[in-house]
Amino acid sequence: MSQRVKIKQILLSDKANYEVTVKGWVRTFRNNQFIALNDGSTNSNLQVVVDFENTDPLLLKRITTGAAIGVTGEVIPSLGKGQKVEIKAKHMEIYGDSDPEAYPLQPKKHSLEFLREIAHLRFRTNTFGAVFRVRHALAFAVHKFFNDKGFVYLHTPIITASDAEGAGEMFRVTTLDMKKPPLTPEGEIDYKEDFFGRSTNLTVSGQLEGELGAMAFGEIYTFGPTFRAENSNTARHLAEFWMIEPEMAFYDLKDNMDLAEEFIQYVIRYVLENNREDLEFLAQRLAEEEKQKPQAERSELGLIEKLEFVLNNQFERISYTEAIEILKNSKPNKNKKFQYPVEDWGTDLQSEHERYLVEKHFKKPVILTDYPAAIKSFYMKQNEDGKTVRAMDILFPGIGEIVGGSQREENYDKLVGRMKELHIPVEELYWYLDTRRFGTCPHAGFGLGFERLVLFVTGMTNIRDVIPFPRTPKNAEF
Ligand code: ATP
Ligand code: MN
Repeated sequence: MSQRVKIKQILLSDKANYEVTVKGWVRTFRNNQFIALNDGSTNSNLQVVVDFENTDPLLLKRITTGAAIGVTGEVIPSLGKGQKVEIKAKHMEIYGDSDPEAYPLQPKKHSLEFLREIAHLRFRTNTFGAVFRVRHALAFAVHKFFNDKGFVYLHTPIITASDAEGAGEMFRVTTLDMKKPPLTPEGEIDYKEDFFGRSTNLTVSGQLEGELGAMAFGEIYTFGPTFRAENSNTARHLAEFWMIEPEMAFYDLKDNMDLAEEFIQYVIRYVLENNREDLEFLAQRLAEEEKQKPQAERSELGLIEKLEFVLNNQFERISYTEAIEILKNSKPNKNKKFQYPVEDWGTDLQSEHERYLVEKHFKKPVILTDYPAAIKSFYMKQNEDGKTVRAMDILFPGIGEIVGGSQREENYDKLVGRMKELHIPVEELYWYLDTRRFGTCPHAGFGLGFERLVLFVTGMTNIRDVIPFPRTPKNAEF
């Protein structure tokens, strides 16, 4: 047997008249003659031509959609349209049969909802093949970007004892017997008896630990799973999602925004250059979906144009206060079209407001800065005005918030003061506060939700379709 070659490699070159072995899964088998074979390396199938008159009929019968096979044969120029080369089968082997009656993936269009129910098999479709190859490329580009800039990849813990940030929306981690938990004299569950000798949770963010790393390495990033038990069943929220969190010493808010913008543009450029075929497939898919919508709701740009637009245009940077003014005077606000009318300075922006700013008013990504302190986290640097903090959220068309970040409060007294106001236990976070006691410095960072980035880049519309096995309320299948 000749060496196994990936289909992508064969199709990339015009070379013909050489023998190869390919292995993959049958997508279709037409006329007892043409196998469309896919091995996951590319969206394109390789056409295998079978000399059916000289092939064992029992073997032919086993070549069905979904079967795993190996083929050795000669690569020859193809006469059919759609491919430059095909392979003339000399020897075929079946590794695994696939009963066509039982196999859920038929060679036809399936709905995304149906495919979500068979997420264990959906990688074998064109759409999910493309989505998850792009997801992989984005993840690789994330590491490449930070590595090339000299950032240290820091693994922050998944199990944490600190619940400073996510009170109420954390998943508890315990080995206590749920039926008969040990109790304190007061009748409360005694977590001193638990595995870690205290109560622990799954992390909602690696930021606090990330800051500790930044205070030594200068620039770090995390890229790991985070967990939120938020009961919001939306197309933008998962209970388990991946977050990228850089933290940088000696950065102010502007440096932070510059980095975030450069980073997003870098990873998008990376996939435009390296995943063209998959993006073109996804663009076509999206265009077909858009055709189903009424004219007014269709997006003006195709997927690839939309990605190029982000590369070629600076993000709009405005303050929360300016955003409130724009929203107050906006048509939908005056015509009472917003579900939540915008009246007073200080209220949190709803996604309808974010979308108005990005999709209608500016028509490009927007960075909102300097939010009211009251609606942001305790660690954000307080502005001179005594009302706002140096926060920045990046809003994307069709997505809403993709990044949340800030310059961090580096002043010990101010930070402790804010924690006390918010009843955050100062003693428990002594380790976090130590960075402010020993060699504190201006620093900043942000968190980017990886799945929201994948949503934007692939043009998919439900976050459940860009993570292999989504975890959402009442759903942890597979
Ligand atoms: P949102 O208002 O959309 O719930 P958030 O303010 O809770 O977001 P942060 O705590 O700032 O978000 O988290 C940083 C980033 O992580 C967000 O900008 C977003 O991209 C992503 N993110 C947050 N929550 C989720 C979630 N449940 N599922 C997927 N991504 C999320
Ligand atoms: Mn949230």
